[in-house]
Amino acid sequence: MIPVLIPSLPETDAIVPYLRRIDGARIYSNYGPLTKEFTARLCGFVSGQSGGGAVHAALASNGTSAIELALRYRTAGRTGRFCVMPSWTFIATAHAAANVGLTPYFTDVDPETMAITPAIAARALRANSGDVAAVIVVSPCGAPIDVAAWEAFEAAHDVPVVFDAAAATLNLRRVGAQPVCTSLHATKAFGIGEGGAIFSTDPEMAETITAMTGFGFSPGSRVSQMRGGNYRISEYAAAVGLAALDGLDARIASLREVSLAYLEGFERISVPMQAGFGRDWLTMTANAIIPPADVEVVTAAFDAAGIQWRRWYGDGCHAHPTFAACPHDGLADTPGVVSTAIGIPFFPALSADQIAEVCGCVERVLSTR
Ligand SMILES: *Cc1c(COP(=O)(O)O)cnc(C)c1O
Repeated sequence: MIPVLIPSLPETDAIVPYLRRIDGARIYSNYGPLTKEFTARLCGFVSGQSGGGAVHAALASNGTSAIELALRYRTAGRTGRFCVMPSWTFIATAHAAANVGLTPYFTDVDPETMAITPAIAARALRANSGDVAAVIVVSPCGAPIDVAAWEAFEAAHDVPVVFDAAAATLNLRRVGAQPVCTSLHATKAFGIGEGGAIFSTDPEMAETITAMTGFGFSPGSRVSQMRGGNYRISEYAAAVGLAALDGLDARIASLREVSLAYLEGFERISVPMQAGFGRDWLTMTANAIIPPADVEVVTAAFDAAGIQWRRWYGDGCHAHPTFAACPHDGLADTPGVVSTAIGIPFFPALSADQIAEVCGCVERVLSTR
């Protein structure tokens, strides 16, 4: 069997020096020294990648709560029942909106980029005139987001934009004032187990959302100034994060190596992967784009060969009973994306032989068609 994903986090020996620091300091949570250091080093990495202004961050207990906090911050004092978002996303996006009292309004995605576009979102605003509180723009399976286009969208429409870039921590090409939420879950390209981050060049947003992660207390006080809760990470999570940053260069190198080997294997048989995958950006959820007429036979051949595969976003959020009653825009192109984007085995330790097995399985099916 080839599993679709094997998570890999720093191993014990890499974490131990940081655990000893926790033993020494006897600080276990509440923005301790390891959390501060992890936040600063993570911001340094993201600033270096995004090549813009200095990036600030608030850390959260997971990616879903990061989106919730960013939405709560950005919609404070605004009216509107709906949160516009693509249906083709992980279900967490819809839960995050619902958890802050908004109703998801599901939109279609562009069939090429598999992302919501400003034109699609503008259509959703027209359909719900005056009743949209926010737009969540999702990075599909970790692909970079066209942040500049969404800055222009927000300026034109005066509706706050929040980025669900959960799987894109390694692909943040541009971070501006709008909050960029990522997940540090074990299955993402950069994981610490459970964790999340909200990045922005706006230091005040980072500071306020950090306060929201600790009951809305302003720094150094025990007086709650705003709605929030307990969304902090512990010093133990920060220890894993620091060890993960120590090993990040090696991890990026191995993700890239496996990605490029896959691209080569699929290019040889003229099967595309998600646009830009591997060459332009890195992820843990690799999608091959299988021609519509061949999807059934290819996935059946995977099953027969013990090759695990997955539709990472299922059939879209609108297909889940929890959100089936939410309004949507007709979702014309979503079924095509759902059907043809097939998540294939991908993880840093995937061997050349395993990649050849996956590509060979697809090749055999397509050659008999
Ligand atoms: C993983 C993911 C989330 C949720 O992140 P968690 O850390 O698991 O809460 C949200 N949105 C998308 C698109 C994701 O891939």
